Amino acid sequence: MKKQFKTESKKLLDMMINSIYTHKEIFLRELISNASDAIDKLYYRSLTEGGVGLARGDYEIRLTPDKSARTLTIRDNGCGMTREELESDLGTIAKSGSFDFKKDGEQKPDIDIIGQFGVGFYSAFMVSERITVVSRAYGSDEAWKWESSGVDGYTVEPGELSSHGTEITLLLRPDTDDEKYSEFLEDYRIRSLVKRYSDYIRYPIRMMVSHSKRVEGSPDDKPEYEDVFEDETLNRMTPIWKQDPKEVSEEDYASFYEEKFHDYEAPLKVIRQKTEGISDYTALLFIPANAPYNYYTRDYEKGLQLYSSGVMIMEKCKELLPDYFSFVKGLVDSSDLSLNISREMLQHDRQLKAIARALENKIKDELLKMQENERDKYKTFFKAFGTQLKYGLYADYGMHKNVLSDLVMFDSSESDESVTLKEYVSRMKDGQKKIYYAAGESREQVKLLPQVEAVTGKGFEVLYLLEDVDEFALMMLHEYEGHEFANVTNDELDIATDEEKESLKLENEKSKDLFDFMKEAIGEGVSAVRFTGSLTGHPACISSEGAVSVGMEKTLGRMPGAESGVKAEKVLEINKDHPIAGKLKMLFIEDKDRLKKYSKVLYANARMISGLTIENPAEIAELITELMV
Ligand code: ADP
Repeated sequence: MKKQFKTESKKLLDMMINSIYTHKEIFLRELISNASDAIDKLYYRSLTEGGVGLARGDYEIRLTPDKSARTLTIRDNGCGMTREELESDLGTIAKSGSFDFKKDGEQKPDIDIIGQFGVGFYSAFMVSERITVVSRAYGSDEAWKWESSGVDGYTVEPGELSSHGTEITLLLRPDTDDEKYSEFLEDYRIRSLVKRYSDYIRYPIRMMVSHSKRVEGSPDDKPEYEDVFEDETLNRMTPIWKQDPKEVSEEDYASFYEEKFHDYEAPLKVIRQKTEGISDYTALLFIPANAPYNYYTRDYEKGLQLYSSGVMIMEKCKELLPDYFSFVKGLVDSSDLSLNISREMLQHDRQLKAIARALENKIKDELLKMQENERDKYKTFFKAFGTQLKYGLYADYGMHKNVLSDLVMFDSSESDESVTLKEYVSRMKDGQKKIYYAAGESREQVKLLPQVEAVTGKGFEVLYLLEDVDEFALMMLHEYEGHEFANVTNDELDIATDEEKESLKLENEKSKDLFDFMKEAIGEGVSAVRFTGSLTGHPACISSEGAVSVGMEKTLGRMPGAESGVKAEKVLEINKDHPIAGKLKMLFIEDKDRLKKYSKVLYANARMISGLTIENPAEIAELITELMV
């Protein structure tokens, strides 16, 4: 009886079958990689439980092309699959749910899909008309045969296999003008694919290869040749991290990374670390060029693969990476770890903690180097993972600032490129004590904030905080190299001279009654009204006082579950040199009713510029019309 694939698998299958993906050849590395994983599982069992009765040298992955049948067979003697596993592992894609991100009708190149998920087994449908999988689980004496020609479903029935493991037979599609699938039956092609993608696989990948050989004794003037078959091991088998670094090219690392960690882009950076001494380990780490589709969700799991002397003991060891470096992929191979180590033991393992600390330092150093020497790369990196670093600054009460404060970057008034805090401090003006910043939704909006214009107009640099997390991160950081952070819309800036401050104070005291009246007129929205001397062109602006800035109010208000409880204490600041200042003073004496209306409109105006909504738009609109008429 034919069974149906789960819906998502069907979509994926359909995509594979109709794929225009140019690297169809990756199907081979996917199948070899599955075979190797299956052997790993059994090998691990033999080491920890014993009784498997196979030595390391007994494991192999065998490729058999058959031109007359037009089939390519991949056979392993790993753990195999039970009937149930055949159904559950090959009937559904492993990472179901991952499809949500691609909305119906949205056109994305095939490459995205193929790279983003370990589509693994299914990629074989790119080249096959029919796939037959016969598998026998280790320890079982029955084999099962799974077969499918694509989207219309699959069958499972009893099969035959001489020993445990899995045999996958691909019936290749017919050749077309554009696609020559029969290539995958040629020795040279298979050999080169294995070399390219699977050289490091730690079990031998073997194939019977035919050679033309002169028949012994055939006459010299009329030599005769015959085809002889020889068993050839196609891969080098040394894991890439154990090979001499001088012999491993960038491309080797990249294809290892892409295959192992299911990425479609080469890594931005490869980090290799080998230590001997107190703890003995080799680490091979990768910094991806893009964030996985689920990176900023709960589903994302950080961790490095953990090997003990070349045998993988854990797929994702999260103890090896801090959260703020959770984007790092890779592996650690140590000869000091026991094979039987359990999760709980790992958490307390001193050795592991020491490795984690060393890796953290190494990652930080490499990122700093990239920031300094390869800024374009660093920008790509920061675009993908910068937000995570900023969360890291904020997390745990700012405990990780030593690691992170030099890695984060912000937009700035000085440059179209993001800048580091170090760069900001290096060009601070004489006498400037604080690091100025302003928060908002976009460069354009922040740039036009009255207070920002005022500060940049005097020649100071202002950092533009455009992400929700930014201001919170700086708050935790508190200061950088002895310079406090000052929000130009919130804090005292030390820009005005003492005389200027004194005269402003007098001016404000004189107008106290006017301000009280205006505050009353505006209502709950403001906690004070006053003059300011720091605006250049604008008539008025909103500043805030206290711990919560306007930017933070906006961020907190957006958070799920926030009942917009947290509000900034807002101050309406009026440009003392703007004609409106005189007008207000005059109205206070001559026309209080009109002053009331002016106050409301001025306040609404200032809110608008700050990117805040107007709470009473109908009333304001009416007032404006009234004043216009
Ligand atoms: P992935 O390898 O990313 O998990 P695949 O679609 O390639 O996804 O494979 C799905 C599952 O099928 C594997 O996780 C494994 O459990 C099982 N599987 C595939 N090939 C083999 C094999 N040769 N031997 C044993 N199990 C296999």
